Amino acid sequence: MTDLSREGPVAFIGLGMMGRPMAARLAAAGFDVRGADPVPEAREALVDAGGRAFATAQEAAEGASVVITMLPDGKVVRDVLLGSGGAAEVLAPGALVVDMSSSAPLDTRSLAADLAALGISMIDAPVSGGVRRVLDGTLTIMVGGEAEPIARAQPLLAAMGKAIIPTGPIGSGHAVKALNNYVSAAGLAAACEAVLIAEKFGVDPAVLVDVLNVSTGKNNSTEVKLKPFILSGTFASGFSMALMAKDLRTAADLARELGVGESGTTSAAELWAAASAALGKSADHTEIHRYLIRNNN
Ligand code: NAD
Repeated sequence: MTDLSREGPVAFIGLGMMGRPMAARLAAAGFDVRGADPVPEAREALVDAGGRAFATAQEAAEGASVVITMLPDGKVVRDVLLGSGGAAEVLAPGALVVDMSSSAPLDTRSLAADLAALGISMIDAPVSGGVRRVLDGTLTIMVGGEAEPIARAQPLLAAMGKAIIPTGPIGSGHAVKALNNYVSAAGLAAACEAVLIAEKFGVDPAVLVDVLNVSTGKNNSTEVKLKPFILSGTFASGFSMALMAKDLRTAADLARELGVGESGTTSAAELWAAASAALGKSADHTEIHRYLIRNNN
């Protein structure tokens, strides 16, 4: 049995699509969860799941020894921790920050350095898998940072994910996450384009998907996204187009900062940014298919 008493209260900041069920899993595992989100329904959901909920990160962080962030991006994470009225003001030296958002790796390095100056340690632990895999506890978690804080966070991470993979120094989890989403988005865009072309040729898209899934063109999108979210027309994967566009921008920025020229990340970032601008804030990332259709008719 994990000794949960070793950790004090855990502040969980950001109770959105992912954060809500992740915080609920921690509460179900016996952790004392103090969540924060400005959205009242998000707070109510955590209370229903057995946690306590607050409107601001600073209130949630009061007395917490660990702060988990699951926020839109690293800029929001920095603001929530170090902005005016931020959570770091009430954290004691020795506290640990675990950023599970998909943040930009170089920003994470500088945030960790700023927190270290306050005696607060940090690891990055972004996830892959989406809402369905939060619910069944099978998220993949890629973890960057020093061995000691990673070991300390292990019981928390194990309550939310299955494959927990150390990726190297601080920021490396975020780098791997952005690269994963680049490969994932490229596979999704290619699969959607193939559906579009097949349909124009008179091939039933469902037949194309069946063939891909027993052939070398198979990828995660052909297996778990095309039929349930795209051919069905529901576009309800639970991961927004805007967040995917942000991840691709992160991958493209990283490639550029590392001197990787002519990177496919740039064209992927441009495609998804244009789709996000055209379809609006509420679009699901699987609506890339609608965008491709719109541009090809
Ligand atoms: P979301 O937009 O549903 O949730 C973000 C939440 O943060 C919202 O509830 C918002 O109210 C809250 N928030 C914003 N500012 C806040 C603040 N100052 N204090 C407290 N809460 C604040 O996003 P999501 O889909 O849950 O994604 C969260 C992170 O996880 C993102 O970085 C995303 O890229 C990543 N991610 C998402 C998925 C997915 O399938 N949805 C999968 C893997 C990774």
